[in-house]
Amino acid sequence: MSKKILVLPGDGIGPEIVNEAVKLLDVLRSRHGLDAELTQGLLGGCAVDATGKPLPDETLSAAREADAILLGAVGGPQYDKLDRPLRPERGLLAIRSELELFGNLRPAILYPQLASASSLKPEVVSGLDIMIVRELTGGIYFGQPRGIEQADGERRGYNTLAYKESEIERIGRLAFETARKRDGRLCSVDKANVLEVSELWREVMERLHAEYPDVELSHMYVDNAAMQLVRAPKQFDVMVTTNMFGDILSDCAAMLTGSIGMLPSASLDRHSKGMYEPIHGSAPDIAGQGLANPLATILSVAMMLRYSLDEPALADRVEAAVGRVLDQGLRTGDIHTEGTRRVGTAEMGEAVIAALAE
Ligand code: NAD
Repeated sequence: MSKKILVLPGDGIGPEIVNEAVKLLDVLRSRHGLDAELTQGLLGGCAVDATGKPLPDETLSAAREADAILLGAVGGPQYDKLDRPLRPERGLLAIRSELELFGNLRPAILYPQLASASSLKPEVVSGLDIMIVRELTGGIYFGQPRGIEQADGERRGYNTLAYKESEIERIGRLAFETARKRDGRLCSVDKANVLEVSELWREVMERLHAEYPDVELSHMYVDNAAMQLVRAPKQFDVMVTTNMFGDILSDCAAMLTGSIGMLPSASLDRHSKGMYEPIHGSAPDIAGQGLANPLATILSVAMMLRYSLDEPALADRVEAAVGRVLDQGLRTGDIHTEGTRRVGTAEMGEAVIAALAE
């Protein structure tokens, strides 16, 4: 049966980069046997403009029906003054939580062709290949109670960091399974020296380890993990952590690779449904100019092929095509260095499609 892909271009550079990914999907369907139907929907600021809500009901029901969702990015300065529930980012948090997309996989891979784009020395980062598994629907971003209140003559802001055992267990399992398919090493990142919730996190990871004896489990405090990521990042294979720690560490890992324009992500539910998106935002500073790097979105399509559409050979083909385009010396502005050829969004997308056939 044909797989259903919901495409949500979003805001800023979202429509430009997603357009390249859709062209690629069309070629995969017409020439490489991908059996999938695409529909488009609204999420984020564009949805607020059109319907008054960042996550319209039609989008949510289309997302529930879909096997996979491809998202560009949401947000922009014109939406920053809206009431919180109307902000584009709320639409994103809501779709993740409504679909129970609890498992965020964020690879940080350094393409050897881009070693000089990293701010770290090439020998520290070349060959880097880390997978960060971030819990995405719990923790402090969702914990109740939360708010800003008046107390003792001043305002007091508060949020709640809480994890149930079952929530830790399901992200732990995803992380162990992921490590098993890679180099078999899992580092769980917490703050167990200070936080009770981290103590429970560590205990659950230890308990699960008994079921995955082939995986080597280690623990690290989050402050040390931040330090180690910049000092010696190649020591890591898979890292698993909470929503907020993962948010910060995965951006740090992303920057080790030189450009956030290169990195995809997957957010998975218990089955094989997933939402796939580049890790960067809507880049309002370059939106509408044809400058954005579409490779993170194209690599998100590769993750979608692998994790939701059961097409690992097509995923390999897309990733190999991206490698070939980099070998040809094509670079968008964010990864451009002397001696390479600067191209725009569409030219980069078309080059990947051309390289698919090779
Ligand atoms: P950003 O990731 O949009 O941009 C940071 C910098 O990286 C900018 O200079 C931008 O031009 C550049 N950049 C990002 N993606 C690029 C690409 N594909 N090609 C070339 N250059 C690229 O982060 P920001 O500026 O902090 O946020 C902008 C907006 O995006 C905000 O409204 C924010 O809330 C939103 N945002 C959305 C998501 C998401 O949709 N998942 C994630 C992060 C930020």
